[in-house]
Amino acid sequence: MDITPVSERRKTRQIMVGRVPVGGAAPITVQSMTTTKTSDVEGTLQQIYALAAAGADIVRCTCNERAAAEGLAQIVPRSPVPIIADIHHQYKMALAALDAGVHCLRLNPGNIRKPEHIKAVAEACGEKGVPIRIGVNGGSLHPDLYEKYGGTVTADAMVESAQDEMAYFDEVGFEDIKISVKASSVPLMIEAYRKLSDVTDHPLHLGVTEAGPPPNGLIKSTAGIGTLLAEGIGDTIRYSLTADPVQEARAGRTLLESMGLRERKNVDLIACPSCGRAEIDVYDIANRALEAFGEREIPLQVAVMGCVVNGPGEARDADLGIAAGNKRGHLFVKGQNVAVVPEDEMVDALVEWAEFMHEHGADAALARADTVKATREAERDRNMLLEKQGDDVNDAEARVELIRKH
Ligand code: SF4
Repeated sequence: MDITPVSERRKTRQIMVGRVPVGGAAPITVQSMTTTKTSDVEGTLQQIYALAAAGADIVRCTCNERAAAEGLAQIVPRSPVPIIADIHHQYKMALAALDAGVHCLRLNPGNIRKPEHIKAVAEACGEKGVPIRIGVNGGSLHPDLYEKYGGTVTADAMVESAQDEMAYFDEVGFEDIKISVKASSVPLMIEAYRKLSDVTDHPLHLGVTEAGPPPNGLIKSTAGIGTLLAEGIGDTIRYSLTADPVQEARAGRTLLESMGLRERKNVDLIACPSCGRAEIDVYDIANRALEAFGEREIPLQVAVMGCVVNGPGEARDADLGIAAGNKRGHLFVKGQNVAVVPEDEMVDALVEWAEFMHEHGADAALARADTVKATREAERDRNMLLEKQGDDVNDAEARVELIRKH
């Protein structure tokens, strides 16, 4: 399928966060943030590796104290992805993070307010070629702006805060900037990013701040980030969840892949919602399959379908799938039956076929199969089920009849 679901991407300039380009024509990147104490070097690195495996291109660590900056000095050279230091109130921590070798700083203009401090950081970044994210946050807007806009956080106030900050950087000729205007309200952040995108060509970092625990946090973040991405706005994204940050990285990656904005990296597991025809516990098998594939880098779409009556047809566009019937699992590749396995081996068989296909391709997978026998077996179980359950196991036709009688 060759469908482009998003508007043309808004043109932004490009900056480099370490070796990762952000903005311009670069792929949209996924970010996440560690939850460990940055001074705990081994614990933080372990989390960074887990985040990178789950799809994070860039990771942010807090730099709130000297011990954190010292931790960063050891973390940065061993990290598989570029590291951003999160600076809140102390501009000196920004300078310490730069000494530690970080690839980018994130500053919150609501928290570092003295122009001379902002300029000192910008100058030090300029000397080292390190970019800065201006991270405006609806919840920590500068009090003057808050007052100016009637004691409430508005999209205009957030954009003005970003522009005020940019003006300080302009004064010292520093342009290596990306910007975020996050809010916990989805409509507010959407409006703020739309307005910001109209007035700047700096790359934009998207997020719904304090989105909360899943599933609500996931839904809010997807609504906000997904809407903007569909409009062509955004160069890098972060899900801010109250959960293991691995979930943030995974969610970000999945959103980009599902919108066709990034190449698929891991298995895209699809599954039927289950219905009266299901021959297995679809939820259980799908979850076990998801766990078995884990972070394996197999960029295939794999389907778990509850019955062999409709499953292979409904999932014919998947690269690989399995459908249950008569206590057996019917494997299919590109819609063609390839093998039959006992029900309790369905997950193992899926993983084994996916690995084979990833390594050798779909044609080789079809070539090693006895497709005639597999199709015959599938047809046999399909007919058996139809005989046992009838064609209208979900009672749809009976209900239609009833409706027509009124
Ligand atoms: Fe799943 Fe079969 Fe029901 Fe479709 S008909 S939802 S494949 S169990």
